[in-house]
Order: sequence, then structure tokens, then C-alpha cells
Amino acid sequence: MRLFLIVVIAVFISITLTAQATLDPAYHTYEEILTELDSLQALYPDYIMVEQIGTTLGAVPYQDPIPIYAAKLSDNVTVTEDEPKVMFAGQCHAEEVLGIEISMYMINDLLEHRFMSPWSVWLNNLEIWFVPTYNPEGLSVVMSGEDTTYRKNKRDNNLNGIFDFWEGPGGDFDGVDPNRNYGFNWIHGDTLGCTSGDEDYDYYRGPGPFSEGGTQAIRDLAAEYNFIYSINWHSSRTGNFSEKVYYSYEWVPGKRNPDFSMCQQAGVNVAALIPKEPPQPGNYEPYPSQSRRGCAHDWFYKAHGTIQLMIECGTMNLQPPEPLIIDTAERNSQGAYWLLGRTLGYQTDDKSMLTGHITDSSTGEPLIAEIRVEQKHASYFEPRLSEGLYGRFWRVLPQGTYDLTFRKKGYETLQLESVVVNNSGWMNLDNPPYNGVQMVPLETADFNGTIYRDGTPVAGEIILYDETGNDTIFTSDGSYEISRYAGEYRALVTGDDCVPKFFELELTAGDQQLDFNLLPAVEVFSEDWNSGLQNWTINGDWAISTESAVGDFVEDSPGIFYENGWDVHITSPSINLNGVSNDVMLVVDHRYYIEHEYDNIFIEIKVGNSDWQEIAGWSGKNYIWHKDYIELEEFVNNRIYLRFRLLTDATITDPGWRINTIKLVAAVGSDSDDETTPVLTTQLKNNYPNPFNPQTRINYSLSNSSPVRLQIFNLKGQLIRTLVNEFQTTDNYTLTWYGNNDKEEPVASGIYFYRLTTGDYNKTRKMILMK
Ligand SMILES: [Zn+2]
Repeated sequence: MRLFLIVVIAVFISITLTAQATLDPAYHTYEEILTELDSLQALYPDYIMVEQIGTTLGAVPYQDPIPIYAAKLSDNVTVTEDEPKVMFAGQCHAEEVLGIEISMYMINDLLEHRFMSPWSVWLNNLEIWFVPTYNPEGLSVVMSGEDTTYRKNKRDNNLNGIFDFWEGPGGDFDGVDPNRNYGFNWIHGDTLGCTSGDEDYDYYRGPGPFSEGGTQAIRDLAAEYNFIYSINWHSSRTGNFSEKVYYSYEWVPGKRNPDFSMCQQAGVNVAALIPKEPPQPGNYEPYPSQSRRGCAHDWFYKAHGTIQLMIECGTMNLQPPEPLIIDTAERNSQGAYWLLGRTLGYQTDDKSMLTGHITDSSTGEPLIAEIRVEQKHASYFEPRLSEGLYGRFWRVLPQGTYDLTFRKKGYETLQLESVVVNNSGWMNLDNPPYNGVQMVPLETADFNGTIYRDGTPVAGEIILYDETGNDTIFTSDGSYEISRYAGEYRALVTGDDCVPKFFELELTAGDQQLDFNLLPAVEVFSEDWNSGLQNWTINGDWAISTESAVGDFVEDSPGIFYENGWDVHITSPSINLNGVSNDVMLVVDHRYYIEHEYDNIFIEIKVGNSDWQEIAGWSGKNYIWHKDYIELEEFVNNRIYLRFRLLTDATITDPGWRINTIKLVAAVGSDSDDETTPVLTTQLKNNYPNPFNPQTRINYSLSNSSPVRLQIFNLKGQLIRTLVNEFQTTDNYTLTWYGNNDKEEPVASGIYFYRLTTGDYNKTRKMILMK
């Protein structure tokens, strides 16, 4: 009812109200921004280049798409030079027009002083991008006087062909909040129609991450230029957040991003350089960002490592008249300029920076490759990449000693250990002793063959895992051809009505034939939830939901996010593995979205009356339906239970775990001859799961009492962790490696070896940690 009323009233307003308050004419309209940028480009063609970077959506029936423009400032401005890049975004929210004025002021200031230091130093050594507005739709609403309090863009949310807005803050049913539309934690933003008192509908996140033309333009610009620093200006309408500088992020006390100290350094220094509006004393105040709702600054950090500040400029008087406009711009520019100096290590106390070029060792060609600083890595990062034109990368780091991993498909992974970054200037890996980052290309390995079920070709798939991820090859008639790179892979091969099976592949250069023989499968256990949860023991709020694409699935907290402090699980009925062959595989089709590292999901198994043992575990986000495979060979000839468990810590929640189908398949017939009499042999078994992140379980058995060592080594053969070093008696043993070294520090993604050494046995197996 409320909605209907608003729509009616909004239409009424838009038709009948003609004269509205308008802003001081000193504020730029969209057209005035373009005119001014064009004339500056005509005056200073060597220093400013105006470029269209996208358009508004164009899905708005009452308005054509509006081009979104950026201005690049640098010497040799038409050339992309091998220089660090910084980006300033003026306007995101429509009514927050001061950011446009700060952008236009800085553009003019830089151009006027282009021959004077420090402006000349910045222009000659940096590429400085400005996007005065990426919400020109909203800007037009504000500048036309239709509604000077308007916040969002103009998306026609109810598809009625009419721009439904309410004069005054909030109540605008149409429009998307661009600063809730970015692709990180978007799920936590407001849904359509979400009400919040005075600001109803004002924070709508949009129909999907990056659904809007404005955020798409910023996303694409960021992908092209890997900005080191950035600012996005806002203004706080209530004044509660005014004159503050927000940096990424401390969502709750203690949960900070790995580069928090550098984000804080930028926030603190920039804030200290911006005086508050006279006559207030003091300067802007720095704060860590606590909002996890699809905001630009968190996305910039997650996607590219860009340190972006959100500055709430001005006071609660969002649109002050002259002379406060120019005054606010001048004061804010002082803070913004600090970032330019910091990028170059010029006229600032803080200079520490890692840089270098990545090239192909045989051709010298620049490479787009991932640079991972192991001490400053998080599992949710998108790969931080070098750029393609020069192979150049930059990374702001506090002074310290770092282990670096450089990774690119088709190249040998390169690791540099103990690289020292200090605060006297850039640490450039082009210099000795490193002399650049040269990556060695791998040779091509072509292989082909057939997947057989008991000798008959069968449709199936081959999933190849390596340390950069996995990919799947499908075959409809059993035969396949694959071209990859030489190296070691773990492969999971499936075939229709077959037991899926893991293989360790060593692919060498050239052509080779590789057939996979699978065994016909019988289903030992299967759950598709069509008859609900009646066979399961439930602890928590687990319930059945349905999606058209996959049918029924079970989830821990239907329709909402899971809660803090949960330890909830569902337990299967008893499953009989007596007489089942050793080739037995658990296949779970699921997706999850769990607070990375702090909350976890596990699959556990219980044999008879023994304790629950963990057989697989995950954390973080893998929110598309996918299958995981877990070998259960060691549990045959028992009755077992399976338990699916969600364990959450005290803060921060996410959507949770959804499990579609659970299947346990085994090879037809019993070949469990040696298993019926439980004679133990000394044996190191495969770890579960593998690949894994971050923990995996290692099992072994001892046929006689002996001194035992179980140790983890990296690819170079260096000892990473000693898990066992003691005298042990005849038994089965299980332990979990949590991906830490002996100093309890998490180790890098990659291939590791675990070795069991006893008095008369020595066996090494391989595993892949994939973060
Ligand atoms: Zn804002």
C-alpha cells in the first residue's frame, strides 16, 4: 500500500512541481563538466586526455544511456607509460556534488602548475585518472532541481516506465545505490523495497553485482590500470560521518585486511592534511571502514589491491554556496595530493614499495602474471596481476621481509624468498641480485585417450587440478584430446555409471596416450532431499529449499544468513559399507558462502561407536554448484554415519552452506578380500581432501611398533612441518595438517609432499594446497 501511494505521489510531483530549489550555479552540471574537460584538452593536449569509459545502463525507459567520461592527466598523456597509476572518483551518490568540484579543481590545479614542482613531478612520473561523475543520471536529477536530495541512479525498478521518486531524502522507489553495487559483499546490501525509516529504498544494491553502467565503467577502468591508490568522494547528509576519511577495513574489531597498516597509513596521513570547514578547528578524522555492503573501496582492495579511501567531504550542508565550494575543494586537494607523493616515495616519510617487471625468460615478452606476497595474502583476493604492456607491478608494503610467489598458467611457478622491502624507497626487483622476474615457460603436453567402463568407452569427464585451479574436460563417447602444459597434475576421472577415481598424472612434453579404466558403480547411499529430512538427525535450523535448476537441497539457514556462535549439523542414517569394494567414493554436490578462514564447514565420518573424524573441510566462498569427491576406502567393512557440520565464530555471518545431492558409490562386486581380516600393514595413505584448503587429513597405519616421523616438505625439498616424531605402537593413525609451518604460519598455495618414515618403511606422497 505504501509503495502504491509513493508511486502515485511521485508521479504527481514530477508533473506538477515546476520550480524547485536549485544549487549554487558554481556547481557543475554534467554538460558543464564535459565542456570544461573538452576545453582543457584543447588547451593542454599533451597533459590531459578525455576518454569515455562506459555509459549508464540504458535500461531506463525514460532516458537514453549517458556516456561516462574519465580524464587522464600525465605527460605524454596519449601514451600508456610504464608509470604508477592513481584514480580519483568525484561523484558516486547524486546529491553529493562536492566531489565533482574537488575533481575539477584538482584537474585545473595540476594543469596550471604543470611546470612547477611538485605538480610537475607528479605529472611526469604518474598517470592520474579522474572520473568526475559515474552517476550522471542522478546528477541530472539534482542539478535540474527535480530533487536536490536524490542519491541513486535512475534504474526503473518496477518497470512502469515512470521515474518514481519522492522529493526529499529517501522514498525513491526507483534507482540503485552505486556504492552498494560492487562485487564484494554485495549480498549484504539492501534488497529491493527495503525500508529503513527516513531513508527508505536509498541503499538498494541493484539486481546483481555490477548490474549498473556506472559501476561497470569503474570496474573496467580498474581492470585496465591496476591503480595503486584511489579516492572516492562522498558527503554525509546527516553530518554524522562528515569530514572523515574511511579506509579498508576492519569489519569488526580485530578482523582486518592483510594490508590494514598500509590502508591506515593512507587514511591517517590524508586526513591529517585536510582542515575542517572553518571555523571548526582541527582536521578530518581517519576511520577504518566497517560496512560490508558492496562498497567501492572494499572491492578495489579485494579485486586489485588498490588502496581506496572513501572521503566524506563537507559538512551536513552537502551543497554549500560559494565561497565554500572552492574552499572545500582546495582543502581536500591537499589530502589527495599526499597519495601522489606516497606512490612515488617523493616528499613523504613513507616510501616503502615493491615493484618490478615480469617477463618470459625465453622471449623477454612482458607477462600478465599473479604476484602473491605470502605474508599479505588472503584467500578471497582476486589475483593481483602485473599489467600487460610492460609486465610491471607495484605493491605498497610496510618495510619488512617477504616471500613472493609469481604464477601464471603455462609457466613454472617462481618463488622469491626473504625479499627485503625498506622505507628508503622502491624495492625494485629489476635490480641485482634479482635482475627482473623472468618466468620459464612450460613445454606443451598433448595427450589423448579413452575413458573405459570395464573395457567399454563411456561418456565422462576429466577434472585436472594444479596449483592455479582446476578445469574440466568433457567427453560424450569416451575419447578425449587435451593440450596442456608439462607438469604434475592430479586428475579426477568420472564416467557414466562408474566409480569416479583420482589419478596422479605426470605429463611430459609431446604427445602421449593415456587411457583411464573405471569400474562399474553401484550406489551404496544417495540423498536428493525429495522426501525431506526425515531420515536425518537434525541439529540447528537446517531445512529443505528448492531451486528450479537443481531441485531440492538442504541448507543451514533457509532464506537468511547463518548466525554467530553456531555448531550445527545434520547426520545421515547408518550407511552399511560391509562387503563393499575398496573403490568407494563420496560425491557431494554443494555450494557454500562462509566467512573465509573464521567460519568453517566440515564433512565428518563416524565408524561404529568411535569419535567423529573430519574427512573434508572448506571455508570462504564457492557459491556455484559444484561437486567434491572424497575417497572412503579406509572405511569399508564398517557401518558409518556421515555428518555435515557448520561451525561459526562470534562475529560476521554469511549465506551459508547448501547441499544438493550426496552420493556414495562403490565398484560392483566385492574385492575386499584382504580387508575382512584386519591385518595392519605399514602404509601411508592418500590425504583427504586433496587438493585442500586450508586443512587436510593424513592417515597411516603401522604393522609393528617403531620410531615414526611424519613430515611435510615443499617443492624444493625443504622441511616445512614435522607432524609426528615419536615412538608409536601398531595401530591406525590419523592427523590433520592445517597448512601451517612449524612456526604456525600459514604456508603458500602449491604442491607439498608428506613423508612417513619408520624403522623399515619410507613413503612420500604428494598433495596440493589450493587457496
Ligand atoms: Zn555517498
